[in-house]
Amino acid sequence: MARFCDVAVPVPLESTFTYSINGSEPVPGGRVIVPFRAQKHVGIVTKVHDDEPSVKTKPVQQVVDSAPLLSDHLLELGRWIASYYIAPIGEVYRSMLPLPAEVKKASVYTVADAGLDALHRSAEQGSSRRSKLNVEAQMTEYEVLDYLANSDEPVREATLRSATGANKQLFAGMVRKKWITRTDATSLRDASRVRRVALLKQEGVPTKQRPLNDNQQILMTGIIAAGGRCSVDELNKLAVPRSTLQTLVGRGLIEIIEEPLDFHVSHLAGKGTKDLQLTTEQSKALDHIHAAAASGKFSVTLLHGVTGSGKTAVYLEAMQQVLAAGGGALLLVPEIGLTPAAAAHLHVVFGDEVAILHSGLTDAERAEQWHRIHRGEAKIVVGTRSGVFAPVANLKLIIVDEEHDHSYKQEETPRYHGRDVAVMRGKLTSAAVVLGSATPSLESYHNAKNGKYHLIELKQRVADRPLPEVEIVDLRFEFQQSGKDQIFSRQLVEEVQHRVENGEQAIILMNRRGYSAVVVCRACGEAIQCRNCAITLTHHKGSPRLECHYCGYRERVPKVCPKCQSEHIYFLGAGSEQVEERLHQAFPTARIGRLDRDTVRGRHDFERVLNQLNAGEIDILVGTQMVAKGHDIHGVTLVGVVGADFALGFPDFRAAERTFQLLTQVAGRAGRGHIPGKVILQTFFPDHYAIQFAQKHDFHGFAAKELQFRKWMHYPPFASVANVLVRSDKLDQALRYAGEIGNWFKETRLEGVRVMGPAAAPLLRLKRDYRYHFVLKSPSREALNSTLRAMLRHADSLKFPRTQVIVDVDALSLM
Ligand SMILES: [Zn+2]
Ligand SMILES: [Zn+2]
Repeated sequence: MARFCDVAVPVPLESTFTYSINGSEPVPGGRVIVPFRAQKHVGIVTKVHDDEPSVKTKPVQQVVDSAPLLSDHLLELGRWIASYYIAPIGEVYRSMLPLPAEVKKASVYTVADAGLDALHRSAEQGSSRRSKLNVEAQMTEYEVLDYLANSDEPVREATLRSATGANKQLFAGMVRKKWITRTDATSLRDASRVRRVALLKQEGVPTKQRPLNDNQQILMTGIIAAGGRCSVDELNKLAVPRSTLQTLVGRGLIEIIEEPLDFHVSHLAGKGTKDLQLTTEQSKALDHIHAAAASGKFSVTLLHGVTGSGKTAVYLEAMQQVLAAGGGALLLVPEIGLTPAAAAHLHVVFGDEVAILHSGLTDAERAEQWHRIHRGEAKIVVGTRSGVFAPVANLKLIIVDEEHDHSYKQEETPRYHGRDVAVMRGKLTSAAVVLGSATPSLESYHNAKNGKYHLIELKQRVADRPLPEVEIVDLRFEFQQSGKDQIFSRQLVEEVQHRVENGEQAIILMNRRGYSAVVVCRACGEAIQCRNCAITLTHHKGSPRLECHYCGYRERVPKVCPKCQSEHIYFLGAGSEQVEERLHQAFPTARIGRLDRDTVRGRHDFERVLNQLNAGEIDILVGTQMVAKGHDIHGVTLVGVVGADFALGFPDFRAAERTFQLLTQVAGRAGRGHIPGKVILQTFFPDHYAIQFAQKHDFHGFAAKELQFRKWMHYPPFASVANVLVRSDKLDQALRYAGEIGNWFKETRLEGVRVMGPAAAPLLRLKRDYRYHFVLKSPSREALNSTLRAMLRHADSLKFPRTQVIVDVDALSLM
């Protein structure tokens, strides 16, 4: 047996730590509880070995898993993430396992031999002649003994107390009598719930020499009546001492196993294959993906299909083919794509062989889904970002739908990008990876153009439907003409009116929630800011308040300026709440719905509004970018964009790309039925190329221009970018971190790495922290990462807390 193991402990440190083994042997990929500094942690074993380290080791406290939870591939994937994103390995593994098992300190008890003897004596003799009080205490003691005797594992004090009504004093007395043993242990609070089941053993037949007594007979009858298996909870309801069950186990008549509590998202009709009529383009794409998945080789395909070209049908068909061939498949979707209806549809297609991982699951449900996949019961997995770590066996195909979507990027440690991790996972497991989008990220598109990825294009919408016509309304001109600062242009009002009269539907995009974006005092010029952030507060009218959209801080709507007491305060810049109100005024008979983070609290709210739209119960739907995401509503013939170009004013090199994607996606909602669609795009930047190319549905044109710009500016995909953010709630400390790190960058000879900064972050203050940042660019990923590692070592040597120096490799946001 190996003497040592290396453990990835979930702490913000890069390395693994070596522990000695003095109990059962841990397995790589399994969990152990280990002491770390003053605490106990659940870590993942990365290696078992006999190499004695130079420093003294502490022993592993408890081996949790006797079989690996993370396969070799997933362990390897974790190492890659830790290295690529410069993230602590223990935190990487923790986020790969959705088993929120935290260490809990608890006293646990086991029954000792003397206790078992006492229990047996009591069963023979009955209670003796003592005072009534003593009899009660004695009964409780026997209950405790009985409970412990029935338990294969040490029992936590809290569990024991609630089961028997015993108190601390009683436990202490029993420990003194050496009836029970007490251990102060850390234990796992594992959300995956299991139930204990009694199984009748085939070979277990009571012999003539040892017939069953009455209690044993009752239990055996109960188990047989239940078909040879019955949960221990059920058996405990029978009026039989708990020790009886243990006796039956001891006699080899039954065995007790643990099985997970079944969890089903829904019990819908079993597997059903819908006959899909694929277009020629779709069939070609499917054939390619099928061949790639069947080859058993790693490949990446970019499936660039215009909105409404039927990418989902291709995915589902390809996954069915993989399943039919005995393989596993993983489909990643953006956060908002996994509505209950989408989940229900997946159950119809794949029956019980699909597991769905989304953010609406409780910890227990998530853990149960994870175990179903781990046991091989679910070979098809559909999940959001962290679904990329699902332990799918024999993985042949990984699909990332809407691969450009920013919800794939995790904005906390480990700051990985789900799409890029998917590609790496495909590489490690020799699977085919498919990235799908109507507006591919420039990174993926560039890889397709230079031959690293295959490129498949779906240029036609299904059923030969045309892409909608996009009309641009220049708001500067509109203002001159009408003399009023209106939210809706005259064209838009006319077009909406037309739809309402004809029973068609419209979607209005205002990518900003709330009623007014800014509250300003005309007397002193002060815009009311968040107390915790350098951000102006947004006015919400429905439940009146000012709110910070970054930290959630709220305050009352002021009647006078908080600074100069002037009454001349103005509410500027419309948000989706105001757009909804104005639509009601302009179209009093129309039924209007709104989708934004204020109206959507959970998945079901989102679903409800979409269902209403689908059923024709809503004429006009207004909302933030939520209205742009992949829905397929056939009655929508008009999309009005009244606020979507704010991002073009942000200091963000991805602003044009984001705007183009948003406009193309929202335009894609129009004309998906038999009536062609139209888009009215109101903007202050009619000449901007993001707007121009969106008008023409010209992804290639946009990409060519944007790639040129990125090349000149040495931005991705032509260079790797990392954001280094330092933060502190004390301004002088934030400045000191920034200054020291800046000096180090200056003094260190950096090969091929350009450092910009320190500069105040565009959001200088956020959630009480002052923030400064550096942007690093390099054509060489290796050079970039080794610079970042050296910088972190330097910061460590200066005792800068790791939580205040944040490295974001491939940062999507530099704010
Ligand atoms: Zn004022
Ligand atoms: Zn705030």
